[in-house]
Amino acid sequence: MITWPSDYLSAWTLAGVVSRKGVGLHTGEECEVHLGPSSKAGYYLSWMDKDSLPIRLSPSQVRESLLCTTLQLGSQRLLTVEHLLAALAGCGLSHVEIKVSGEEVPLLDGSALEWVEAISEVGLTAAPTSRPSRIVLKEPLLCHRGKSVITATPSEKFSLVGVIDFPQGAIGRQVMAIELTPENFVTEIAPARTFGFLDQVEQLRDSGLIRGATLDNALVCDGDEWLNPPLRFSDEPIRHKLLDLIGDLALVGFPKAQVVVYRGSHQLHTDLAASLLTLCTK
Ligand SMILES: [Zn+2]
Repeated sequence: MITWPSDYLSAWTLAGVVSRKGVGLHTGEECEVHLGPSSKAGYYLSWMDKDSLPIRLSPSQVRESLLCTTLQLGSQRLLTVEHLLAALAGCGLSHVEIKVSGEEVPLLDGSALEWVEAISEVGLTAAPTSRPSRIVLKEPLLCHRGKSVITATPSEKFSLVGVIDFPQGAIGRQVMAIELTPENFVTEIAPARTFGFLDQVEQLRDSGLIRGATLDNALVCDGDEWLNPPLRFSDEPIRHKLLDLIGDLALVGFPKAQVVVYRGSHQLHTDLAASLLTLCTK
């Protein structure tokens, strides 16, 4: 068993190269991702089938997109990066080279578990340079969209509180608070799978979206019931929401803050990421 870093203070890279292959949720096409060590701080991405220099991933590349987080890298885009980025950042990795084929990161089982397993297969090793410095808050930040709210308040530790409130009986109201460490991320958050609603799934499929969705890579809710139980946690949906939040903050870096999110979405997470970034440029 791998020993995970105890916090997010030291710099870590991968001890070897590891890969995973699978179908993209939106494109329905097979894609492959290689993860490997890097001597430079940050996450660098290049395409296997193109002769291009690795691009350092940054929050400015994030584009709003329906149901997933997309990066625009020059003329190329890369869809559904959030679970992979959550796994890299959540496990404590600060220096990583990513190589991809295709334009979407595979969904795998809909959680970050297979990425965590890939990372633990090769293990972590100390990186040769320090990790990018963390954003320090002096006062609280607040962003909202409709009924959804996210706040970040100054804190020594990086902790998360998530609340969701769905009319569907199978989900209902769920609350989760966690102090994030690599160990906690791996055991409490990474295995939580993405979820959707039967009526929406049919609608999206009919519009040619989510071509790669199956009952093996997303929990599907039909009112008071799940179509494909068992759940991995009784509150798997809120855990997955926190996984998405971690993925959406991965490129900004985890702030010295407690983040509280009520009815989060990728757009709301991205709003907070943008507010956090303004603190860096001041
Ligand atoms: Zn997700």
